[in-house]
Amino acid sequence: MAGFDHETLPGRVIFGRGSLARVPEFAAELGASRVLVVATASQARRAAQLQKALGKAGAAAFARAAMHTPVEVTEDAMRVVEAEAIDALVAIGGGSAIGLGKAIAFRTDLPQIVIPTTYAGSEMTPVLGQTEAGAKTTQRSARVLPEVVIYDVDLTLSLPPQVSVTSGFNAMAHAVEALYAREPNRLLSAAAQECVRAMAGALPKIVVAPGDVEARAQALEAAWLGGWCLAAGGSALHHRLCHVLGGAFGLPHAETHTVLLPHVLAFNVKAAPDAVGRLCDALDAAHPADVLFDLAQSLGGPLSLKALGMPRAGIDRVAATVLEAPPWNPRPPDGKGLKRLLARAWRGDRPH
Ligand code: NAD
Repeated sequence: MAGFDHETLPGRVIFGRGSLARVPEFAAELGASRVLVVATASQARRAAQLQKALGKAGAAAFARAAMHTPVEVTEDAMRVVEAEAIDALVAIGGGSAIGLGKAIAFRTDLPQIVIPTTYAGSEMTPVLGQTEAGAKTTQRSARVLPEVVIYDVDLTLSLPPQVSVTSGFNAMAHAVEALYAREPNRLLSAAAQECVRAMAGALPKIVVAPGDVEARAQALEAAWLGGWCLAAGGSALHHRLCHVLGGAFGLPHAETHTVLLPHVLAFNVKAAPDAVGRLCDALDAAHPADVLFDLAQSLGGPLSLKALGMPRAGIDRVAATVLEAPPWNPRPPDGKGLKRLLARAWRGDRPH
Protein backbone atom coordinates (compact mmCIF):
# COMPACT_ATOMS: atom_id res chain seq x y z
CA MET A 1 0.00 0.00 0.00
CA ALA A 2 1.37 3.43 -0.96
CA GLY A 3 0.71 6.33 1.41
CA PHE A 4 0.20 9.94 0.39
CA ASP A 5 0.33 13.51 1.68
CA HIS A 6 -2.65 15.61 0.52
CA GLU A 7 -3.10 19.26 1.43
CA THR A 8 -6.58 20.78 1.07
CA LEU A 9 -6.07 24.33 -0.15
CA PRO A 10 -8.24 27.27 0.92
CA GLY A 11 -10.27 29.37 -1.50
CA ARG A 12 -13.87 29.86 -2.49
CA VAL A 13 -15.07 28.74 -5.93
CA ILE A 14 -18.19 30.24 -7.55
CA PHE A 15 -19.35 28.53 -10.73
CA GLY A 16 -22.28 29.87 -12.71
CA ARG A 17 -23.53 31.98 -15.62
CA GLY A 18 -23.63 35.69 -14.83
CA SER A 19 -21.50 35.31 -11.71
CA LEU A 20 -19.19 38.09 -12.94
CA ALA A 21 -21.82 40.51 -11.60
CA ARG A 22 -20.95 39.37 -8.07
CA VAL A 23 -17.41 40.82 -8.12
CA PRO A 24 -18.40 44.02 -6.20
CA GLU A 25 -20.10 41.86 -3.55
CA PHE A 26 -16.96 39.75 -3.02
CA ALA A 27 -14.72 42.85 -3.06
CA ALA A 28 -16.86 44.33 -0.27
CA GLU A 29 -16.64 41.05 1.67
CA LEU A 30 -12.86 41.27 1.45
CA GLY A 31 -13.04 44.83 2.81
CA ALA A 32 -11.52 46.22 -0.40
CA SER A 33 -11.75 49.93 -1.10
CA ARG A 34 -8.92 50.40 -3.69
CA VAL A 35 -9.04 47.55 -6.21
CA LEU A 36 -6.62 47.07 -9.12
CA VAL A 37 -8.05 45.09 -12.07
CA VAL A 38 -5.39 43.25 -14.11
CA ALA A 39 -5.80 41.78 -17.60
CA THR A 40 -3.96 41.26 -20.88
CA ALA A 41 -4.11 44.01 -23.53
CA SER A 42 -6.73 42.15 -25.57
CA GLN A 43 -9.04 42.08 -22.54
CA ALA A 44 -8.54 45.79 -21.71
CA ARG A 45 -12.21 46.60 -22.38
CA ARG A 46 -13.41 43.92 -19.95
CA ALA A 47 -10.96 45.22 -17.33
CA ALA A 48 -12.24 48.78 -17.76
CA GLN A 49 -15.87 47.60 -17.47
CA LEU A 50 -15.02 45.71 -14.31
CA GLN A 51 -13.25 48.75 -12.82
CA LYS A 52 -16.41 50.77 -13.52
CA ALA A 53 -18.67 48.07 -12.05
CA LEU A 54 -16.63 48.24 -8.84
CA GLY A 55 -17.75 51.85 -8.42
CA LYS A 56 -15.70 53.85 -5.90
CA ALA A 57 -13.64 50.76 -5.06
CA GLY A 58 -12.39 50.46 -8.69
CA ALA A 59 -9.12 52.37 -8.27
CA ALA A 60 -7.22 51.36 -11.42
CA ALA A 61 -6.86 48.90 -14.27
CA PHE A 62 -3.59 47.54 -15.65
CA ALA A 63 -4.09 45.71 -18.96
CA ARG A 64 -0.52 44.78 -19.81
CA ALA A 65 -0.23 41.23 -18.45
CA ALA A 66 1.89 39.00 -20.69
CA MET A 67 2.56 35.31 -21.21
CA HIS A 68 5.06 33.68 -18.79
CA THR A 69 4.77 36.60 -16.32
CA PRO A 70 7.84 38.71 -17.23
CA VAL A 71 9.29 40.30 -14.09
CA GLU A 72 9.59 43.73 -15.82
CA VAL A 73 5.81 43.84 -16.34
CA THR A 74 5.19 42.89 -12.70
CA GLU A 75 7.52 45.71 -11.61
CA ASP A 76 5.51 48.21 -13.68
CA ALA A 77 2.28 46.92 -12.13
CA MET A 78 3.84 47.19 -8.65
CA ARG A 79 4.40 50.92 -9.27
CA VAL A 80 0.64 51.28 -9.86
CA VAL A 81 -0.10 49.24 -6.72
CA GLU A 82 2.02 51.62 -4.67
CA ALA A 83 0.92 54.87 -6.35
CA GLU A 84 -2.78 53.98 -6.03
CA ALA A 85 -2.57 52.48 -2.51
CA ILE A 86 -4.18 49.29 -3.80
CA ASP A 87 -5.72 46.98 -1.18
CA ALA A 88 -7.13 44.16 -3.35
CA LEU A 89 -6.64 42.63 -6.79
CA VAL A 90 -9.06 41.39 -9.42
CA ALA A 91 -7.54 39.38 -12.28
CA ILE A 92 -9.71 38.68 -15.31
CA GLY A 93 -8.48 36.60 -18.23
CA GLY A 94 -6.33 33.58 -18.92
CA GLY A 95 -3.21 32.35 -17.20
CA SER A 96 -1.27 35.48 -18.20
CA ALA A 97 -3.60 37.88 -16.33
CA ILE A 98 -3.88 35.46 -13.43
CA GLY A 99 -0.09 35.06 -13.34
CA LEU A 100 0.35 38.83 -12.99
CA GLY A 101 -2.21 38.94 -10.16
CA LYS A 102 -0.35 36.10 -8.42
CA ALA A 103 3.02 37.83 -8.91
CA ILE A 104 1.66 40.99 -7.26
CA ALA A 105 0.05 38.98 -4.45
CA PHE A 106 3.37 37.20 -3.90
CA ARG A 107 5.06 40.55 -3.33
CA THR A 108 2.26 42.18 -1.30
CA ASP A 109 -0.01 39.45 0.11
CA LEU A 110 -3.01 41.42 -1.21
CA PRO A 111 -6.29 39.47 -1.43
CA GLN A 112 -7.38 38.38 -4.91
CA ILE A 113 -10.60 37.73 -6.79
CA VAL A 114 -9.77 35.80 -9.94
CA ILE A 115 -12.03 35.35 -12.97
CA PRO A 116 -10.55 32.80 -15.41
CA THR A 117 -11.60 33.05 -19.06
CA THR A 118 -9.44 30.23 -20.47
CA TYR A 119 -8.85 26.64 -19.34
CA ALA A 120 -5.26 27.08 -18.06
CA GLY A 121 -6.21 26.44 -14.40
CA SER A 122 -3.62 28.72 -12.77
CA GLU A 123 -6.30 30.11 -10.41
CA MET A 124 -6.40 26.83 -8.48
CA THR A 125 -2.67 26.48 -7.86
CA PRO A 126 -0.22 27.91 -5.35
CA VAL A 127 2.35 27.91 -8.18
CA LEU A 128 3.87 31.14 -9.45
CA GLY A 129 5.86 31.01 -12.69
CA GLN A 130 7.97 34.05 -13.61
CA THR A 131 10.36 34.81 -16.45
CA GLU A 132 13.53 36.82 -16.18
CA ALA A 133 16.47 36.96 -18.61
CA GLY A 134 15.18 34.07 -20.75
CA ALA A 135 14.64 31.66 -17.86
CA LYS A 136 11.33 30.66 -16.35
CA THR A 137 11.31 29.65 -12.72
CA THR A 138 8.43 28.39 -10.63
CA GLN A 139 7.83 28.44 -6.92
CA ARG A 140 5.00 27.42 -4.60
CA SER A 141 3.53 29.84 -2.09
CA ALA A 142 0.14 29.91 -0.36
CA ARG A 143 0.29 33.71 -0.71
CA VAL A 144 -0.52 33.51 -4.44
CA LEU A 145 -3.75 31.55 -3.94
CA PRO A 146 -6.85 33.65 -4.70
CA GLU A 147 -9.43 34.16 -1.96
CA VAL A 148 -12.29 33.88 -4.48
CA VAL A 149 -12.41 32.28 -7.94
CA ILE A 150 -15.38 33.09 -10.19
CA TYR A 151 -16.03 30.76 -13.13
CA ASP A 152 -18.58 32.51 -15.36
CA VAL A 153 -19.10 30.43 -18.48
CA ASP A 154 -20.45 33.46 -20.40
CA LEU A 155 -16.93 34.95 -20.42
CA THR A 156 -15.54 31.89 -22.20
CA LEU A 157 -17.95 32.06 -25.17
CA SER A 158 -15.62 34.56 -26.87
CA LEU A 159 -12.54 32.36 -26.52
CA PRO A 160 -11.58 31.54 -30.14
CA PRO A 161 -11.93 27.81 -31.01
CA GLN A 162 -8.19 27.38 -31.60
CA VAL A 163 -7.30 28.98 -28.25
CA SER A 164 -9.98 26.81 -26.64
CA VAL A 165 -8.37 23.67 -28.06
CA THR A 166 -4.84 24.46 -26.91
CA SER A 167 -6.04 25.74 -23.53
CA GLY A 168 -8.10 22.55 -23.15
CA PHE A 169 -4.95 20.50 -23.80
CA ASN A 170 -3.20 22.56 -21.12
CA ALA A 171 -5.93 21.48 -18.65
CA MET A 172 -5.67 17.84 -19.73
CA ALA A 173 -1.90 17.97 -19.29
CA HIS A 174 -2.39 18.89 -15.62
CA ALA A 175 -4.68 15.88 -15.24
CA VAL A 176 -2.44 13.45 -17.12
CA GLU A 177 0.52 14.32 -14.92
CA ALA A 178 -1.70 13.99 -11.83
CA LEU A 179 -2.61 10.47 -12.92
CA TYR A 180 1.02 9.42 -12.59
CA ALA A 181 1.74 11.73 -9.64
CA ARG A 182 4.45 10.65 -7.25
CA GLU A 183 1.88 10.19 -4.49
CA PRO A 184 -1.47 9.44 -6.13
CA ASN A 185 -4.69 9.15 -4.16
CA ARG A 186 -8.22 8.19 -5.19
CA LEU A 187 -9.61 11.72 -5.07
CA LEU A 188 -6.81 13.03 -7.26
CA SER A 189 -7.05 10.17 -9.76
CA ALA A 190 -10.85 10.49 -10.00
CA ALA A 191 -10.63 14.27 -10.57
CA ALA A 192 -7.91 13.80 -13.19
CA GLN A 193 -9.81 11.11 -15.05
CA GLU A 194 -12.97 13.24 -15.07
CA CYS A 195 -11.03 16.28 -16.31
CA VAL A 196 -9.73 14.35 -19.34
CA ARG A 197 -13.11 12.73 -20.06
CA ALA A 198 -14.99 16.03 -19.87
CA MET A 199 -12.44 18.14 -21.77
CA ALA A 200 -11.87 15.61 -24.57
CA GLY A 201 -15.65 15.39 -24.97
CA ALA A 202 -16.26 19.15 -24.91
CA LEU A 203 -13.55 20.40 -27.29
CA PRO A 204 -14.95 18.89 -30.54
CA LYS A 205 -18.35 20.46 -29.74
CA ILE A 206 -16.76 23.85 -29.01
CA VAL A 207 -14.86 23.83 -32.30
CA VAL A 208 -18.10 23.19 -34.20
CA ALA A 209 -20.17 25.63 -32.12
CA PRO A 210 -18.10 28.04 -29.96
CA GLY A 211 -21.33 29.38 -28.42
CA ASP A 212 -22.47 25.96 -27.14
CA VAL A 213 -23.03 26.90 -23.49
CA GLU A 214 -23.31 23.31 -22.25
CA ALA A 215 -20.02 22.29 -23.90
CA ARG A 216 -18.38 25.48 -22.62
CA ALA A 217 -19.58 24.76 -19.08
CA GLN A 218 -18.27 21.19 -19.34
CA ALA A 219 -14.87 22.48 -20.49
CA LEU A 220 -14.74 25.14 -17.77
CA GLU A 221 -15.53 22.58 -15.08
CA ALA A 222 -12.83 20.34 -16.53
CA ALA A 223 -10.44 23.31 -16.38
CA TRP A 224 -11.25 23.77 -12.70
CA LEU A 225 -10.50 20.07 -12.10
CA GLY A 226 -7.29 20.30 -14.14
CA GLY A 227 -6.02 23.23 -12.09
CA TRP A 228 -7.01 21.43 -8.91
CA CYS A 229 -5.06 18.36 -10.07
CA LEU A 230 -1.94 20.42 -10.75
CA ALA A 231 -2.17 21.94 -7.28
CA ALA A 232 -2.79 18.64 -5.52
CA GLY A 233 -0.67 16.26 -7.59
CA GLY A 234 2.26 18.38 -8.69
CA SER A 235 3.81 17.94 -12.08
CA ALA A 236 6.47 15.90 -13.83
CA LEU A 237 8.50 15.84 -17.05
CA HIS A 238 5.81 17.30 -19.29
CA HIS A 239 5.43 20.53 -17.32
CA ARG A 240 9.18 20.89 -16.91
CA LEU A 241 9.69 20.60 -20.67
CA CYS A 242 6.97 23.18 -21.33
CA HIS A 243 8.54 25.62 -18.87
CA VAL A 244 12.04 25.20 -20.29
CA LEU A 245 10.73 25.66 -23.84
CA GLY A 246 8.64 28.69 -22.83
CA GLY A 247 11.51 30.37 -21.01
CA ALA A 248 14.24 29.59 -23.55
CA PHE A 249 12.40 30.26 -26.84
CA GLY A 250 9.30 32.20 -25.77
CA LEU A 251 7.08 29.42 -27.13
CA PRO A 252 3.38 29.97 -26.48
CA HIS A 253 2.34 28.07 -23.35
CA ALA A 254 -0.88 26.26 -24.25
CA GLU A 255 0.31 25.40 -27.77
CA THR A 256 3.49 23.87 -26.36
CA HIS A 257 1.39 21.73 -24.01
CA THR A 258 -0.72 20.59 -26.97
CA VAL A 259 2.27 19.50 -29.04
CA LEU A 260 4.14 17.80 -26.22
CA LEU A 261 1.41 16.01 -24.27
CA PRO A 262 1.01 12.96 -26.56
CA HIS A 263 4.80 12.55 -26.79
CA VAL A 264 5.46 12.73 -23.05
CA LEU A 265 2.56 10.38 -22.40
CA ALA A 266 4.02 7.90 -24.90
CA PHE A 267 7.42 8.27 -23.17
CA ASN A 268 5.77 7.36 -19.84
CA VAL A 269 3.34 4.68 -21.01
CA LYS A 270 5.25 1.61 -19.80
CA ALA A 271 6.19 3.17 -16.48
CA ALA A 272 2.65 4.31 -15.57
CA PRO A 273 0.23 1.43 -16.26
CA ASP A 274 -2.40 2.59 -13.77
CA ALA A 275 -2.50 6.09 -15.27
CA VAL A 276 -2.76 4.62 -18.76
CA GLY A 277 -5.63 2.36 -17.66
CA ARG A 278 -7.54 5.36 -16.32
CA LEU A 279 -6.86 7.34 -19.50
CA CYS A 280 -8.12 4.43 -21.62
CA ASP A 281 -11.35 4.56 -19.59
CA ALA A 282 -11.61 8.36 -19.85
CA LEU A 283 -10.99 8.42 -23.59
CA ASP A 284 -12.68 5.09 -24.34
CA ALA A 285 -9.65 3.98 -26.34
CA ALA A 286 -6.71 1.59 -26.08
CA HIS A 287 -3.87 4.01 -26.90
CA PRO A 288 -4.36 7.37 -25.14
CA ALA A 289 -1.22 9.02 -26.57
CA ASP A 290 -2.46 8.31 -30.11
CA VAL A 291 -5.96 9.49 -29.24
CA LEU A 292 -4.66 12.81 -27.89
CA PHE A 293 -2.48 13.30 -30.98
CA ASP A 294 -5.44 12.55 -33.27
CA LEU A 295 -7.69 14.84 -31.22
CA ALA A 296 -5.24 17.74 -31.56
CA GLN A 297 -4.89 17.06 -35.28
CA SER A 298 -8.62 16.73 -35.95
CA LEU A 299 -9.34 19.99 -34.09
CA GLY A 300 -6.66 21.92 -35.99
CA GLY A 301 -4.30 22.15 -33.02
CA PRO A 302 -0.53 22.57 -33.46
CA LEU A 303 1.45 19.34 -33.85
CA SER A 304 5.08 20.41 -34.04
CA LEU A 305 7.49 22.51 -31.99
CA LYS A 306 8.99 23.63 -35.29
CA ALA A 307 5.72 25.32 -36.24
CA LEU A 308 5.73 27.08 -32.86
CA GLY A 309 9.12 28.62 -33.65
CA MET A 310 11.59 26.39 -31.83
CA PRO A 311 14.95 26.05 -33.63
CA ARG A 312 16.07 22.44 -34.33
CA ALA A 313 19.37 23.23 -32.62
CA GLY A 314 17.48 23.92 -29.39
CA ILE A 315 16.79 20.24 -28.74
CA ASP A 316 20.16 19.54 -27.12
CA ARG A 317 19.93 22.70 -25.00
CA VAL A 318 16.46 21.80 -23.71
CA ALA A 319 17.46 18.22 -22.90
CA ALA A 320 20.59 19.44 -21.08
CA THR A 321 18.63 22.05 -19.09
CA VAL A 322 16.06 19.47 -17.99
CA LEU A 323 18.80 17.03 -16.97
CA GLU A 324 20.63 19.64 -14.88
CA ALA A 325 17.88 19.14 -12.28
CA PRO A 326 15.72 16.25 -13.52
CA PRO A 327 12.08 16.42 -12.41
CA TRP A 328 10.39 13.47 -10.78
CA ASN A 329 8.80 11.36 -13.53
CA PRO A 330 7.48 7.78 -13.62
CA ARG A 331 10.19 7.04 -16.21
CA PRO A 332 13.34 8.87 -15.17
CA PRO A 333 14.41 11.07 -18.10
CA ASP A 334 17.71 10.28 -19.85
CA GLY A 335 19.53 12.28 -22.51
CA LYS A 336 18.93 9.90 -25.40
CA GLY A 337 15.24 9.36 -24.61
CA LEU A 338 14.61 13.07 -24.10
CA LYS A 339 16.29 14.09 -27.34
CA ARG A 340 14.33 11.46 -29.24
CA LEU A 341 11.07 12.67 -27.68
CA LEU A 342 11.89 16.30 -28.50
CA ALA A 343 12.96 15.46 -32.07
CA ARG A 344 9.64 13.72 -32.74
CA ALA A 345 7.70 16.60 -31.20
CA TRP A 346 9.80 19.11 -33.16
CA ARG A 347 9.00 17.41 -36.47
CA GLY A 348 5.35 16.72 -35.56
CA ASP A 349 5.65 12.92 -35.89
CA ARG A 350 3.11 10.63 -34.28
CA PRO A 351 4.00 9.81 -30.64
CA HIS A 352 6.07 6.70 -30.21
P1 NAD B 1 -3.32 33.81 -21.98
O1 NAD B 1 -3.78 34.19 -20.64
O2 NAD B 1 -2.11 34.50 -22.50
O3 NAD B 1 -4.54 33.97 -22.98
C1 NAD B 1 -4.32 33.76 -24.38
C2 NAD B 1 -4.97 34.91 -25.18
O4 NAD B 1 -6.38 34.75 -25.11
C3 NAD B 1 -4.65 36.28 -24.61
O5 NAD B 1 -4.46 37.18 -25.67
C4 NAD B 1 -5.91 36.64 -23.85
O6 NAD B 1 -6.13 38.03 -23.76
C5 NAD B 1 -6.97 35.97 -24.70
N1 NAD B 1 -8.18 35.58 -23.98
C6 NAD B 1 -8.27 35.07 -22.73
N2 NAD B 1 -9.55 34.79 -22.45
C7 NAD B 1 -10.28 35.13 -23.53
C8 NAD B 1 -11.67 35.06 -23.85
N3 NAD B 1 -12.54 34.51 -23.02
N4 NAD B 1 -12.07 35.50 -25.05
C9 NAD B 1 -11.17 36.00 -25.95
N5 NAD B 1 -9.86 36.07 -25.72
C10 NAD B 1 -9.42 35.65 -24.52
O7 NAD B 1 -3.03 32.24 -22.10
P2 NAD B 1 -3.28 31.01 -21.11
O8 NAD B 1 -2.91 29.83 -21.92
O9 NAD B 1 -4.61 31.08 -20.50
O10 NAD B 1 -2.23 31.23 -19.95
C11 NAD B 1 -0.85 31.01 -20.16
C12 NAD B 1 -0.06 31.50 -18.98
O11 NAD B 1 -0.58 30.91 -17.78
C13 NAD B 1 1.41 31.12 -19.04
O12 NAD B 1 2.20 32.19 -18.60
C14 NAD B 1 1.50 29.93 -18.09
O13 NAD B 1 2.78 29.76 -17.56
C15 NAD B 1 0.48 30.30 -17.05
N6 NAD B 1 -0.06 29.15 -16.29
C16 NAD B 1 0.26 29.06 -14.97
C17 NAD B 1 -0.23 28.01 -14.21
C18 NAD B 1 0.11 27.96 -12.75
O14 NAD B 1 -0.39 27.12 -12.03
N7 NAD B 1 0.96 28.84 -12.26
C19 NAD B 1 -1.05 27.04 -14.78
C20 NAD B 1 -1.36 27.16 -16.14
C21 NAD B 1 -0.87 28.24 -16.90
